[in-house]
Amino acid sequence: MLQGKTAIVTGASRGIGRATAMELARHGANVVVNYAGNKEKAEKVVAEIKELGVEAIAIQADVADSESVQAMVKETIDTFGAVDILVNNAGITRDNLFMRMKEEDWDAVIDTNLKGVFHCSKAVTRPMMKQRFGRIINVSSVVGAIGNAGQANYVAAKAGVIGLTKTLARELANRNITVNAVAPGFIETDMTGELPEDVKAQMLGQIPLARLGQPEEVAKAVRFLASDDASYLTGQTIHVNGGMVM
Ligand code: NAD
Repeated sequence: MLQGKTAIVTGASRGIGRATAMELARHGANVVVNYAGNKEKAEKVVAEIKELGVEAIAIQADVADSESVQAMVKETIDTFGAVDILVNNAGITRDNLFMRMKEEDWDAVIDTNLKGVFHCSKAVTRPMMKQRFGRIINVSSVVGAIGNAGQANYVAAKAGVIGLTKTLARELANRNITVNAVAPGFIETDMTGELPEDVKAQMLGQIPLARLGQPEEVAKAVRFLASDDASYLTGQTIHVNGGMVM
């Protein structure tokens, strides 16, 4: 399905990013496993991908830093000859109630979760325009659509990602580049593992399917958006949330 395509997945050493990198590889794509700091984990993902019979490399780059992002895209093209798919997955949380939220926590979350999407998308756009093909898939969140107390920074970033997705979709459509988002609900990863038990129980009560999602269930939606099956979809957000928001 994705044979001969090259994908960059940001923040791919664990969680949804790792599951997405594996899923794209399982369907034939060569994958760049981007990571921020944990080289060992990223190399483990690379080794698992190679076992599937496709190529993979790990590239360190902080998505909030435009120079390192540009270097990552250059290395990708030098290695694989093209970049066809970008999955903007890297994300962090720095939760606090609005009145207690520090400016540095606002900046850190916006820089990674929103500006990171700007940097990575900008770096791949020119090569994608030249080849007249591209798939950009941004990982937003259910809270970007409904808000969430204690996450003003994160919600602003994730809502921003949906707006950015729609605008890039409009700007890049005439070069056959589609831009879509997935908005996961409550997915079982290290990010949600850090939440207090009472918060988890409360969130579980809001999910009609009555369970947390698995990273692989988000990865499959990303893979669909990256595939030819989604050739007439752009500017859309697919909600993968067990029915949490309808
Ligand atoms: P995670 O914390 O397990 O993974 C996030 C990854 O991003 C990590 O590998 C981390 O190292 C990487 N990363 C962080 N900052 C980075 C940077 N500056 N540059 C490069 N990489 C960086 O979390 P996850 O749950 O797998 O989240 C993946 C994405 O899904 C995030 O964008 C998150 O906001 C989003 N999301 C998660 C959930 C959930 O319930 N887990 C729900 C909605 C949205």
